[in-house]
Amino acid sequence: MQQARQSLINAAREMAARGLSAGTSGNVSLRVDAGILITPSAVPYESLTPEMIPLLRPDGGYEGHYRPSSEWRFHLDIYLARPEVGGVVHHHAPYTTALAMARREIPACHYMIARFGGAPLRLAAYALFGTAALSENVLVALEGRTACLMENHGGIAVGADVAAALAAATELEVLAQQYTLALAAGGAVLLSADEVAAAVRQFATAYRPNTGG
Ligand code: 13P
Ligand code: ZN
Repeated sequence: MQQARQSLINAAREMAARGLSAGTSGNVSLRVDAGILITPSAVPYESLTPEMIPLLRPDGGYEGHYRPSSEWRFHLDIYLARPEVGGVVHHHAPYTTALAMARREIPACHYMIARFGGAPLRLAAYALFGTAALSENVLVALEGRTACLMENHGGIAVGADVAAALAAATELEVLAQQYTLALAAGGAVLLSADEVAAAVRQFATAYRPNTGG
């Protein structure tokens, strides 16, 4: 558990180091047998120690001295709805958040969208941060995807573990930046549904994990 707490802290610090979250914006969690470990609310990532990481139980109660992230509901609801998910990253990264403020989803503007399960990367409808209403909207937007945007707020990415979730959160911001630049260049020409489906298949086959075997 100590090791899991440290990997959560490392992921949160890496999120900040990559410029994906300023101040105490954003939050990170990972699944453990007893529930989920989640960053505490409103604590700067550089001052986190393993003892400060709360354990959130599936019933919403928690163990620890520090209260969990204000967004614990959508973290918990994602794990309950998506058994394949082992890590969740939420950020307010600049390009992701710019698109979320313009209320623009990310369409099939690049084949890399297949990496997130298909197109589009949807927008979760606006709801106050830290509410069950926001959590409901996030679950809808994330269906069949490993990332979504959140209107006037930011983005969420999930993965099999916290490292995979952080990688997806980083690539979400890159795709959001590329799409924003394409809009500035006159607009993106979109791939067809068939082309996106073929890219999803290619990720599962030709571009499967390369483990050296
Ligand atoms: P917490 O500090 O409570 O995790 O909140 C940050 C945030 O991004 C809320 O949406
Ligand atoms: Zn937020």
